[in-house]
Amino acid sequence: MDRIEVEKLKADIDIISVVSEYVHLKKRGRSYIGLCPFHKEKTPSFNVDPVKQIYKCFGCDKGGDVINFVMEMKGLSFIEAIEELASRFNIPVNFAKTQKSSEKKQFYETNRYAMEFYEHMLAGSQGSRAREYLRKRGLSDETIQAFHLGYAPSSWDSLSRMLRKKGVPMARAFACGLIIERNNGGYYDRFRDRVIFPILDISSEVIGFGGRIMDSSEPKYINTPESPVFKKRKVLYNLCRSKGILRNSGVSVVEGYMDVVSLANSGVSNAVATLGTALSEDHVNLLSRFTDNITLVFDGDSAGKNAMRRAVEPFLNNDVLPKVVVLPEGKDPDDIVRSETVKWDRLMNEASSIWDFIFDESFYRHDPSKLEDQNAIIKELVPMISRMRDQIVQDLLVQRLSVKLGVSPESVHHQMEPQGRQTEDLMQIPRKDKGTLEYVIVRLMLFDDDAVRLVKELGFVGALKNKDLSELAAYLIKEGAKGIDNVRCPDHIRVHAAQIKADGEFPGDKKKALIDTLCRFKTLSVESDIRRIQQELSVVDKTDDTVKRNELLKERQEKMLEKRHVRNYVMEVALRK
Ligand SMILES: [Zn+2]
Repeated sequence: MDRIEVEKLKADIDIISVVSEYVHLKKRGRSYIGLCPFHKEKTPSFNVDPVKQIYKCFGCDKGGDVINFVMEMKGLSFIEAIEELASRFNIPVNFAKTQKSSEKKQFYETNRYAMEFYEHMLAGSQGSRAREYLRKRGLSDETIQAFHLGYAPSSWDSLSRMLRKKGVPMARAFACGLIIERNNGGYYDRFRDRVIFPILDISSEVIGFGGRIMDSSEPKYINTPESPVFKKRKVLYNLCRSKGILRNSGVSVVEGYMDVVSLANSGVSNAVATLGTALSEDHVNLLSRFTDNITLVFDGDSAGKNAMRRAVEPFLNNDVLPKVVVLPEGKDPDDIVRSETVKWDRLMNEASSIWDFIFDESFYRHDPSKLEDQNAIIKELVPMISRMRDQIVQDLLVQRLSVKLGVSPESVHHQMEPQGRQTEDLMQIPRKDKGTLEYVIVRLMLFDDDAVRLVKELGFVGALKNKDLSELAAYLIKEGAKGIDNVRCPDHIRVHAAQIKADGEFPGDKKKALIDTLCRFKTLSVESDIRRIQQELSVVDKTDDTVKRNELLKERQEKMLEKRHVRNYVMEVALRK
C-alpha cells in the first residue's frame, strides 16, 4: 500500500468520530476540544481540527492524524492501525498484510466464533441448567446478552467440532487457549459444563474467556491462558463497555467478573475487574486515561495488610491516589447492590484514601506508645512512602507519620534517604539484571527516536549481551524507531519488536528512565571491567611482573574514574542535539 492509498483511507474517515470514542469532545470555534487521553489534565488542552483532520495536545505535545491517534491510543503499529481503521470503516485496502496483524485478526475471529457458539448453547436446550443458575443470581436477559454470557456444554469436543467446521485449524484454537492438547495427540475442549464470560478488549475484540462452574466443585473459575491477543496485565473486564462513562462516574475495581456483571445488572455500570491477577501498573495507566477517580473494592475477608500493600504498589509511579472500600465481612458486591443500589453508592462515596487504610492498619497492629513498635511502623511505612513519585503527597504522608508518631519530619526523612534512592532505581529497572536493563533500553528505543540517537551516540549497542536484543537495537539504529513498520524489515526482527512493544510504552518519565537505565547499564559494565582487572591483578601479584601490574593498576584507575563520571557523560550526550 502506498502513500496515495493511505491518504485515501484518511480522507474516508472522520477523525472526530474516531477520537470521540475515547475523548468527550466539545465544539469550540472551528475545532473540538477535550481532555487529553495521553496525559492527565483537568482543563482541556486536546484539540481536534475537523478541517485539517488532525489532533494536537498543547499539554503533552502529542499530535498527528487519525492513524497516529489509533496507533498511540491502542499501542498498534502503523500497519495494524491502518488495518484496524480499514476494517472498522469497511474500506478496502490493498497491501501485503504483516504476519503479525493478520494473525491477531485470526485469533479475534476464532474467539468470536467460540463466543457465539457458547451464547447459542446457553440459549438452547443444553443451556437450561445454566440459564436457571444465572436467573437465580438475578441476572436479566438484557444483562446476559450485553455481556455475551454463554454456556460450554458438558462435552469434550463440541467446541472443537464447531471450530473445525468453520475451518479453524486446531493449532490456532489451541493457541487461543480454547482447547487443550491430549498427551496421546488430539485435543479436548477447555471449558466443559461452565457458564462462560467472554473477555473483550478495549475495542470490543474477543480476546479470552472465563468459565465458572455452577456447583461447589473446584476450581470455581478458570480462564483461557495468555495468547498473542490476551495479556492479563493489560486487560480489564468491562472496560470496553464502561469506558465512555468513567470520566464522569469514576471507576470501581472489583475482584471478579461475576461482581462486574451483577453490579451492571443492578444499574451500576462503572465497575471493572482484573482477570485473576493483581492490578498492574499497566492497568492503572490504562484506567487513568479515562479517570483519576479510582476506587478499589475489597471483600471484607481479603483486605488484610498484604492486600493493601499490593494494591498500592501499581499506583506509586502514577499521580493517581486510589480510594478503598472494604465491604462488610462475608458480603460481596452482589449482596450489597441487590439489597439496595443506594447502599452501594453510599459505600463508594464514603471511600477513603488507600493511605488512610495503610496507616490505620499499621497503627492498629502495633502499639505506637512503645519504642520498638514505633520502629516497626516506620519500617513498614517508610519504604512505601519513599517510593511515591508524587512529591507533594509524599511530603504530606511524611508529615502525617511524624505527627502520629510524635517525631520530627526530618527524622522520618532521614529514614527515607537510603531506601529512597535504592528503590528509585528498582522502580525504573524491574530487576537488577543486566538482561532486563538491555530489554528496557530496547523497549525505550522502540518508541522514541531520541532514545535511538542516544544509544547510538553512546556506542552501547555492541555492549548488549543478548543476541536478539542487540540485533534489534542495531536495526533501530540503522532505520530509526519507525523502521519496524518498514516492509523491508525482516520478519524475525518485526516479531521480536512487536513482542516488546506489546508491553506498551515505558510508564512514567521516559527521558529519566532512559538516562537512568543507560547509566545503570554503563555502570554495571564498568564494574565488571573493574572486577576483571582485579582478578588479573591478583594473579599478577603472585609474579614479579611489575610492568603488567602497573598497567593494570592504571587501567583500574581509569575505570574507577569512568565509573564516577558515567552520569555526567550520559547526560552530556543526551543534551547534545
Ligand atoms: Zn496531552
